[in-house]
Amino acid sequence: DAKKEHGVSYRFFNDRMNRELDMRLELETEFRQALRGDKLDLYYQPKIDVRSGEVVGMEALVRWPHPRLGVLTPAAFIAAAERSSLIIPMGYWVLERACRDLNMLQTMGYDDLVCAVNLSFRQFFDRRLSETVFRIIYNANIDTTKFEFELTESAMMFDRDYTLKCLKELTHLGLRFALDDFGTGYSSFTNLRNLPISTVKIDKSFIENVCTIAEDATLVSGMISLAHSLSMTVVAEGVEKPEQLEFLRQHNCDQAQGYWFARPLPFHEFCDFLQVAGDLRRLRKQ
Ligand code: C2E
Ligand code: MG
Ligand code: MG
Ligand code: MG
Repeated sequence: DAKKEHGVSYRFFNDRMNRELDMRLELETEFRQALRGDKLDLYYQPKIDVRSGEVVGMEALVRWPHPRLGVLTPAAFIAAAERSSLIIPMGYWVLERACRDLNMLQTMGYDDLVCAVNLSFRQFFDRRLSETVFRIIYNANIDTTKFEFELTESAMMFDRDYTLKCLKELTHLGLRFALDDFGTGYSSFTNLRNLPISTVKIDKSFIENVCTIAEDATLVSGMISLAHSLSMTVVAEGVEKPEQLEFLRQHNCDQAQGYWFARPLPFHEFCDFLQVAGDLRRLRKQ
């Protein structure tokens, strides 16, 4: 009766697949509506200068406050957004929102902050990427040096020539690039040297065990030295403990980001964070 059993499990499997597909499509439809209806949100996680302890910038991280499921992080929808190419308009929405918030911050007197925005390799499918990016920033009347784009090595894998062309165009306009999740991809030294990249972000998987696993400590200090030898800025992501920060200080890492300082925050909470950080600094100086 193996055949019958097979038939049953096949049907079961098929039903499940159909249900999953329905859910995927429903999520995609809902995501499209959320994007069109301006219902996404942009959170900010502060970046701290390791030496001075000052807030030097922030990373913009997209969120989807879902009516039934709560606030969704990119893990729940970025893949669907990439599959459907909605990641392209989403990317422009993110940039527009970041411009609006940066203008607000400048009004409040925070005019030295650099805002990092993530770019997925799929956004390079848009042949007018650099043009559109520049137009959005220019129309918002924001200095291009106030932005930094974070990309992973996968962005470089798909169409290297076009990606490089975009990076060069945007670099000439004053924009800067960071290599995200450094250490997890196929980072080759040549790659790093030949790209117009000014910053590397060491992936949080290395920071996690930097104080407990000797190999990770060696890797992190090596990555910092390598980046510095290429005159790049080094950011550590995923700093959750003071001893990790201490390690980074001792090894001359430039900037740090992680739950130890703050989780990604809604804009108004990020503003509160900046104010408290500023007040503390002034108190210490007195
Ligand atoms: P990423 O660019 O590497 O961002 C860092 C992720 O680490 C964020 O997850 C952040 O919330 C998380 N994180 C920060 N500090 C800590 C920490 O101390 N411990 C731990 N365990 N995690 C920490 P998030 O916000 O869920 O974003 C995940 C990924 O989604 C991002 O990884 C980025 O690749 C992508 N993403 C986020 N926003 C955007 C966006 O606007 N556009 C695009 N294209 N991708 C985005
Ligand atoms: Mg990032
Ligand atoms: Mg990262
Ligand atoms: Mg990451």
